[in-house]
Parts: sequence; structure tokens; C-alpha cells
Amino acid sequence: MTIKENISLLPFNTFRMDVKAKIFAEYSSVEELRQLLDMYRGGKILHIGSGSNLLFTKDYDGVVLHSAMRRARCTNEDSDHVWIEADNGLVMDELIEQLCDMGISGMENLSHIPGEVGASAVQNVGAYGVEAKDVIESVRAVSLENGEERVFTNAECRYGYRDSVFKNELRGQYIITHVVYRLNKHFEPKLEYGNLQCEVGDKPTPMSVREAVVRIRRQKLPEVSELGSAGSFFKNPIVPREVYEAIAAQYERVPHFEQDGGVKIPAAWLIEQCGWKGKMLGGAQCYEKQPLVLVNRNNAAPEDIVNLAAAICKGVKEKFGIEISPEVNYI
Ligand SMILES: Cc1cc2nc3c(=O)[nH]c(=O)nc-3n(C[C@H](O)[C@H](O)[C@H](O)COP(=O)(O)OP(=O)(O)OC[C@H]3O[C@@H](n4cnc5c(N)ncnc54)[C@H](O)[C@@H]3O)c2cc1C
Repeated sequence: MTIKENISLLPFNTFRMDVKAKIFAEYSSVEELRQLLDMYRGGKILHIGSGSNLLFTKDYDGVVLHSAMRRARCTNEDSDHVWIEADNGLVMDELIEQLCDMGISGMENLSHIPGEVGASAVQNVGAYGVEAKDVIESVRAVSLENGEERVFTNAECRYGYRDSVFKNELRGQYIITHVVYRLNKHFEPKLEYGNLQCEVGDKPTPMSVREAVVRIRRQKLPEVSELGSAGSFFKNPIVPREVYEAIAAQYERVPHFEQDGGVKIPAAWLIEQCGWKGKMLGGAQCYEKQPLVLVNRNNAAPEDIVNLAAAICKGVKEKFGIEISPEVNYI
């Protein structure tokens, strides 16, 4: 394990916030993780992955933990499925690339989402009509309180839209160490979402779908290596039907999706109607290609992002009476 004191978190968050951690510790096994928990139990602890869904608002006056466990193994197979157990610190996109290379399918639509395997099971990441919950069979985790291991079945993870039990009742109580995926040997492409079908063409393979997803994402979203961001900053609100109908009566075309319990309106559309697309506040910008994304355009300080996000929420509330809330975790 490695333990460092007072280090910059700049390389550990995709928003590129130059804040410091009092302690930064990296472990290479579950045993080392338990030792670190024994050392720092009772204090402030934050486990991070690639820091691609975080906004550090100030220096972190506690212990930041990170996993250096980065392997994956096949634990079982039958005529239709393969079970892969992946370590929490493996970059999810590297795993997907390897799986596509072997013709194993199920995760190809999730290609090019930044982040590590552990966090993807907390966040229930999703893209192009597939969510992590569709392929997660179970999750192994260690309790921060006593270091004991617990296995959570998919149902026990209580997955929802970018949501899980680890973000609610069990927030801050478990560190996910491994994720078991049930994947497919026979390819059934899911191409209904957006323009994926056109981009893939005939005779799709897991790898050709992956490549199409990567191409589309590169056109729409900032590359984390080039421009700081945390992807979609806001969640898409689900509003009562009468709220949607009142808006639809005033605007020619309101994009919307029927949901249990209401109508989902893309936050990007609401933000664009408020005139925020492309606008800057300090060094922070509402991304000109996709207003759901806030970017660090010019050495933004944490407060630039916080102020821009607050101004956008206020604008949407005033114009439409709808509360939009951040998907990104403020630390
Ligand atoms: C350009 C860009 C595009 C994106 N596109 C998408 C997209 O299409 N779909 C989507 O769903 N998301 C998207 N995201 C968001 C992000 O990639 C995901 O939320 C991802 O799962 C975050 O992984 P991470 O390893 O960076 O986690 P972090 O940001 O480091 O952590 C996220 C949360 O998980 C917790 N956590 C981290 N590891 C563990 C662990 N092992 N055990 C318990 N808790 C843990 C952290 O404490 C934190 O609360 C995008 C982000 C960017 C920057």
C-alpha cells in the first residue's frame, strides 16, 4: 500500500480541481484495504475511483482511498453466459474493450464512460439504453464499520436511474471491492437508442457497436483528457403530467419520455431554453455542444462550477417551475 500526505487531487478528478487531500492511500488487496480502515476508522474517509463524477469544492480534510486492484477473471460459464468478476479499480472501459475483443457482449453500449468498476456499480452508470444493473449479478463489498465482507445480490443493490442503495440507505457504509457481471456468449445488439443503428450499419458485432458508441460520444461529449468535466452535471427531472402539459402548450416541440409516475423532460432542453448553452461564469462553462455538461474551460475554481450550477438551477426553476438537481457528487 502507499500512503501520502497533503497531496494535490488534480490528477484524481476529471473536473481538474486543484484541491488537496490530507491523506491519500492506495491499496492493492482487500487485506490492505482492511488495514487502512483499521488505521483510519472513525475519521473522515472518501473512496474514489477516477473522480469522474465528483466535484471537490475544497481541500479534503480526511483520508482519500483509492484501489490499485485492476484484474478481472472468469468465474463461471454455461452455454449462453459468462460470469466475470472484476476488481473495483479496473477502468470499466478497459474491461469492456477486452470483452468486446473476445466477442462477449452485454456492456458494449457502456463503452467510453469514464470511471472504474467499483464506482460504476454505485452509480448504476448508463448509456444508449443499457445500465450497469442489466449486467451486474452481484457486488462484493467491505464494511467501513468493521471490515467485514458482504455480498449484495442485484436486487439488494436496489438499482434505479443513476442510483443504488450505496447512494442512499448505505451511503458511506461500504466500499465495493468486486463486481460480478453475467454476460452473453450470443450477441443480441441493443441499437434502438438514438442514432446507434445508423452508425453501426449491417452485421453488428460487440466490437463494431463499441466503436460506434465511442464515435458518437466523441462528437457530443468533452474528452476528459482535453477538457475538465464530470459528464452530465444534472439529472433529468421527472415531472407530473400536468406540468409537462403546461409547458407543451407554450412550446412547439418539447422532448419528453413517459415514465412511471410522470414525464421525464431532458434537463439539457430546459437549460438551453433558459439561454445557458455556451455561457460562462468565471472559468466554468455550460458546454456549447451539450448544455447538460458543465466544463472547466479556463482554470475554473470550485466556486465557479458551484455558482454556475446554482445559477442554472435557479434559471430553470424561475422559467419552468421545475427543480433540477446535480447528478455529480459535491465533496
Ligand atoms: C465525459 C464524461 C462522460 C460521462 N458519461 C456518462 C454516461 O454516459 N453515463 C453515466 O452513467 N455516467 C457518465 N459519466 C459519469 C461517470 O463516468 C460515472 O458516474 C462513473 O461511474 C464514475 O466513476 P469513477 O470511478 O470516476 O467514480 P468517482 O467519481 O471517483 O466516484 C463516484 C462516487 O462513487 C463512490 N465510489 C467510488 N468508488 C467506490 C467504491 N469502490 N465503493 C464505494 N463507493 C465508491 C465515490 O465516493 C463517489 O461517491 C461521465 C463522466 C464524464 C467525465
